[in-house]
Amino acid sequence: QRARDAIGALTRSVADFPTTGVIFRDLTPVLADAEGFAAVVEALSEGFEVDAVAGIDARGFLLGGAIAHRLGVGVVAVRKTGKLPPPVLACTYDLEYGTATLEIPASALDLDGARVLIIDDVLATGGTIAATASLLAQAGAAVAGTAVVLELDGLGGRAAVESALPEGAAIRA
Ligand code: IMP
Repeated sequence: QRARDAIGALTRSVADFPTTGVIFRDLTPVLADAEGFAAVVEALSEGFEVDAVAGIDARGFLLGGAIAHRLGVGVVAVRKTGKLPPPVLACTYDLEYGTATLEIPASALDLDGARVLIIDDVLATGGTIAATASLLAQAGAAVAGTAVVLELDGLGGRAAVESALPEGAAIRA
């Protein structure tokens, strides 16, 4: 409830960003607020027993690091293409206009058999989390679930994530 209150009070809605017709939810004030950040990190971590956290570029890095620390595990940065040195595992997925590619290191991490929690700030169409789940599966990891601060309604994101995650994986928003 503390997390919900902070999200309700501090989230900013910005019309026509990044393109006309889109209402962008800006969660940066929640993350910048000491109590809000602590409440969100606690709500997203609660009850998960995992071996690693995967934080999605870029606000998922901020949350993912804190959540990993709280759960006593390490954090994997899921990066936009071109930022990591080779070798990488890559997954390209469709956006409304065009495609995007996410990458994780291919050899520097041993995720084989690891239970991983995927963290991001916002779930919209679900494409980003689905691509991350596919990357982790390529690395041999078992996705235990995903947790986000905000789920946008009406975009089919939950259904997309449900079909991309293994049976029984948790979806928390
Ligand atoms: P999806 O792949 O359509 O689910 O989009 C999710 C990704 O886009 C996440 O990495 C979010 O950070 C970003 N995103 C989409 N909509 C918003 C928004 O309204 N506010 C902040 N981030 C957003």
